[in-house]
Amino acid sequence: MLTARQNFKPCEGYGTDDREHKRLHFIGSKGWVATFVVADLILAEYNLRGSVQRAASLVQSCRALRERKRNKKEDARLLEYDKTLMKLRRIINIYELALYEQQATLPEDLRPTYEFLTRNPVWYLRKELIDDCIAKGGCCSRECRCCENRHLHRKSRKGTGHCTAECRCCEDHRGFEYTEKEKSNITDQLRRMLNHRGPGFVLRMAEAYFSAPDIPEPTSSKPTSESTSEPTAKEKLSEIPNKEEKEKEEREKDEKEKDENDKDEKSSTASDFEDVEPLIGESEGIKDFKWKGLFKKY
Ligand SMILES: [Zn+2]
Ligand SMILES: [Zn+2]
Ligand SMILES: [Zn+2]
Repeated sequence: MLTARQNFKPCEGYGTDDREHKRLHFIGSKGWVATFVVADLILAEYNLRGSVQRAASLVQSCRALRERKRNKKEDARLLEYDKTLMKLRRIINIYELALYEQQATLPEDLRPTYEFLTRNPVWYLRKELIDDCIAKGGCCSRECRCCENRHLHRKSRKGTGHCTAECRCCEDHRGFEYTEKEKSNITDQLRRMLNHRGPGFVLRMAEAYFSAPDIPEPTSSKPTSESTSEPTAKEKLSEIPNKEEKEKEEREKDEKEKDENDKDEKSSTASDFEDVEPLIGESEGIKDFKWKGLFKKY
């Protein structure tokens, strides 16, 4: 696991409710960032992640229904899921834009590091975020490895990360689904924690979201690249260029496979939007439903 960083400190007299005076200073420079700027970006990212996990959960439900013989009631439910997924697709797009807004308006001392960091598909496997997920009873507290593998299922790097109130695996583990009210309370709780009078939580999050990737350790004692063991999070974080190349390769492979599949599908199209359009209303519509635009493996 990665070591804790210390690049931020709270401004003097931090314990105030006046949001304009809550600032985090960058250690070693005169720069600072208002706490609400950090909080707004993290909340935007959380909302996007939640919607992506909600969509993933629904796609899973759709797939389970599609794979078995259905009665009329189940057909109706499938169509309902289908419509909800269409709505979610819009919501995800709006949240992506909201996150972009927060990212684009970050102070210049932070933005390049954040953009560089989040180019790595496993950027979120940082100590502070893993600890947070464990403390909240998310998938990192169990053996399922959902968080670790989540980036494999999504084409876009945005919206990938640790569990939210929408995580299907956590829901199965809890044995119940949160109500909309409870989900909204959980988001409010995150907002309160980020803007709390005590800076402990927001400092940890600032380190996770805005600290440069750790400098890799010397490789002299490492085994050769033929090692079959899984790379650690730290190794993954230090492999940004390789990871990107690999991702490009994977994307090209995916696209090749998709092209092959599309040859057999009557609605084949070059448009990314139409590629993910659920085929509601067609005679065999539900069967052909696909969400390749959002997820790689569903
Ligand atoms: Zn899990
Ligand atoms: Zn989970
Ligand atoms: Zn996690």
